[in-house]
Amino acid sequence: MRTKSWWGWGWADQALDQAGSDQLARRVSAFLPLDGQVAPVPDVERLRRPRVAQPPIEARCDNLARVSHSYGKAYRDVIRNLRNDFPNPPDWIAYPRNENEIEETLDWAAHVGAAIIPYGGGTSVVGGVEFRDPDRPFVTLDLGRMRAVVELDAACLAVRAQAGIDGPALEAALREKDLTLRHYPQSFEFSTLGGWLATRAGGHFATGRTRIDDFVESLRIVTPVGISESLRVPASGAGPSPDRFWLGSEGALGIITEAWMRVQKRPAFRSRATISFAEYQAGVAASKDLAQSGLMPANCRLLDPLESLIAADSDSPMAALLLAFESADHPVESALDRAIELCRAHGGQVAPRETSWRGNFLRAPYLRDALARLGVVVETFETACTWGSFEQLHAAVLDAVSPAIATCRFTHVYPDGPAPYFTVYAPGRRGAELEIWDELKARVSEAVVANGGTITHHHAIGRDHNPWYQRQRPEPFGTVLRAAKRSLDPQRLLNPGVLGL
Ligand SMILES: Cc1cc2nc3c(=O)[nH]c(=O)nc-3n(C[C@H](O)[C@H](O)[C@H](O)COP(=O)(O)OP(=O)(O)OC[C@H]3O[C@@H](n4cnc5c(N)ncnc54)[C@H](O)[C@@H]3O)c2cc1C
Repeated sequence: MRTKSWWGWGWADQALDQAGSDQLARRVSAFLPLDGQVAPVPDVERLRRPRVAQPPIEARCDNLARVSHSYGKAYRDVIRNLRNDFPNPPDWIAYPRNENEIEETLDWAAHVGAAIIPYGGGTSVVGGVEFRDPDRPFVTLDLGRMRAVVELDAACLAVRAQAGIDGPALEAALREKDLTLRHYPQSFEFSTLGGWLATRAGGHFATGRTRIDDFVESLRIVTPVGISESLRVPASGAGPSPDRFWLGSEGALGIITEAWMRVQKRPAFRSRATISFAEYQAGVAASKDLAQSGLMPANCRLLDPLESLIAADSDSPMAALLLAFESADHPVESALDRAIELCRAHGGQVAPRETSWRGNFLRAPYLRDALARLGVVVETFETACTWGSFEQLHAAVLDAVSPAIATCRFTHVYPDGPAPYFTVYAPGRRGAELEIWDELKARVSEAVVANGGTITHHHAIGRDHNPWYQRQRPEPFGTVLRAAKRSLDPQRLLNPGVLGL
């Protein structure tokens, strides 16, 4: 059995060791001052005792379970873990095996006045699984025992699965039938179907069906006032969509227990190329043309020159557009040829060697943790905006982080605009890392929303994005959400605080 890291990303055995850390420090010290220290991983100190008796189902209250469920996996979470900073750990972690046990736990919570924090893989980067009310007991409801593939309808290309299943387990079951959900967030290995649905996750394909919303056929949800299950049909115009209502509800309106998801045949044809651009803006213009061409590339990932140097091991400071096409049905070389032609019209050149991004992409969160231990403030944030707003938004974000460094890549491109994803590297000060990051985050969030961007394209709202979310969503819709919360969860049992509810 491999062990997951309690303090950082992913598998414990993948964290950088001393030699890896030294090597990273040598590379990074070229552009950021370092103090030569590596923050140690602490032993967990004694936690506050649980304030309520055990919930009526299987539950744990040992230190390891409680610290590893206290936070998500953002930079600020890693820093607090390394500082042994757990003022408000969950009182219990409960592990339901079925809907009856969820209902029993909700009844119990209503009785003892506890809050319930639904928990999938715990990979939230927005404070989604962290309860911040120090005065109310709470139980983290870990859906990890509800991880079955219940039914596969190969004729209709659909699968019914329980919410607690993680990416690899779901894909392994589908692969046996030569099928795939084809939803790969960067956190794929450790996040769950329920978490993806509750946060409206984005997969890493750049165009076409890539957001989890696109694959939903029907959802089943336990709420404090009963079970909601939507009709399983290919499409429906029957009033406002119940699935749309639950998607992105972040555990505040109900607990997703099962979903029917649309799956696809596994791609058999693939073609790809890397295109270099001397001018970043030319790469942006080419990405726009590609997004509007109807070619639907699977990958259309524009890396700015710095991102290309840092994250893709490029040896030249040029913008790189990573292009890929795939299909289960037909060869895709002609689509790639046409895409290259479009890029050449903007001065793009096919690079002699392909940019290696996939390995680096999966390795990036481990490097983030190692950098955090070296004292660097390092974090990502993302948005989406129209093509018309991008240039100004991009300039405003770089200005807001200055003098720190920010790199940018497009994770998704749409006919009407890109989804830019930024990584910030700032010199840290031991003990002041959270303050430095929080100030930077507030500045970049202001820059994003003041320049027409959404506060998040796929990282969700949680607690951290709430101030900007309240400004972004129309007020009548806020009224609807608050009314829904009052009706479905009158005692505010479910994840109080996320989405401002
Ligand atoms: C390194 C890294 C890379 C990431 N890459 C991506 C990416 O590419 N795309 C992307 O979209 N996101 C990404 N994320 C963010 C995160 O992985 C997603 O938000 C993911 O969907 C969360 O899934 P989870 O199972 O871990 O949910 P959790 O973190 O456990 O929970 C997230 C939220 O959903 C609620 N929730 C969880 N399960 C349920 C349920 N069954 N019913 C109701 N509510 C529930 C929780 O209460 C919480 O509010 C990344 C995060 C990290 C740390």
